[in-house]
Amino acid sequence: MFKLTSILAAVSMLISGILSCTQLLPYDTDGRDQVENVILLIGDGMGENHLEWTKDELGIDLVMDDMPLRGYSKTKSANSPITDSAAGGTALSSGIRTGNNYVGVYFADPLQTYSTPTNITEICESHGMRTGVITTDLTTGATPSAFSAHTNDRGNNDKIIAQQMASDIDIIWGNTDEDFNAATAEANGFTVIDSEAEMDALRNGSKSFAAFNSSLWRTETGTDDPTLSEMTEKAIEILDNDEGFFLMVEGAHIDKHSHSNDEKNMMIAVQEFDRAIEKALDFAKKDGNTLVVVTADHETGKIVYRNGEYKYTRGNHSATDVPLLVYGSSNFIDNGEAVNNYMVPRLIAASLGFEQSEFRNVQAD
Ligand SMILES: [Zn+2]
Repeated sequence: MFKLTSILAAVSMLISGILSCTQLLPYDTDGRDQVENVILLIGDGMGENHLEWTKDELGIDLVMDDMPLRGYSKTKSANSPITDSAAGGTALSSGIRTGNNYVGVYFADPLQTYSTPTNITEICESHGMRTGVITTDLTTGATPSAFSAHTNDRGNNDKIIAQQMASDIDIIWGNTDEDFNAATAEANGFTVIDSEAEMDALRNGSKSFAAFNSSLWRTETGTDDPTLSEMTEKAIEILDNDEGFFLMVEGAHIDKHSHSNDEKNMMIAVQEFDRAIEKALDFAKKDGNTLVVVTADHETGKIVYRNGEYKYTRGNHSATDVPLLVYGSSNFIDNGEAVNNYMVPRLIAASLGFEQSEFRNVQAD
């Protein structure tokens, strides 16, 4: 048994050595403006036309349009021109291109026989930063999972939640399913909350797991649960500290309402996501050392502008590039530049002054 373990360890080291030696980054990530805190906001399914349609229909401006750098993220996965949220989230968390349905694992090694990619949450933790993952979806949804778990099937909710429970993440907030066990969360040092009042009572430096119900995405008052912007504001207050923090915020319902081509509710979700961005920008402007990055994992609904009107043209994801908006860095990207989605966490790491080798694999284009 000892011998087999040694051989496996040797093979694993050999493979990771080959990967890191032979594959060089196609981008220079040196020389980025340095920051101490990062807030990454992901509008699930949010394409450029979701924003244009919302502004046009409602006659409003969006705060995110004022962010100084604006480029695009290219979203294809390792096995499809059209990604799902698992592969898209993994690109944004782990700096690699993996296959649809995979969460935080390599496309070539989904069962993690030899290696598991490191994600930006783990890298930030290793530097003593506080971390948070918040969503309007289930905490086991594909996007939050990509920042907090590793598994070959996005549907492995039990494995995902077990990894979240065992993690060093300070804040995991969203809706929960039947795999959530409050006693286990508490045994792992989390304060379990299930209402806005309980969230508001949390103090700076606390560690908490939310078990909200399903009304999170709504913006009307009268529910027990906080809105995404309220969660964002409170999470920043809890995470802020001298060692820095990384916070991922997902607005999941832009995607959900685009699958059903429900533009009215999609626009409500876009507006609430924009309010969450405003909270992040308010903090960043006061703080002066905070990077705010807004993007999407993919576009949903393939919204087109035709004959003077916007309309959905499908009920699923599309291959359309998505917005990549940046505040707090003059050189994260160039204005108008389109980068591969897996460069986003690599550029975040570079902005924090971390080596690219902290991602266990370096994937060439
Ligand atoms: Zn979707």
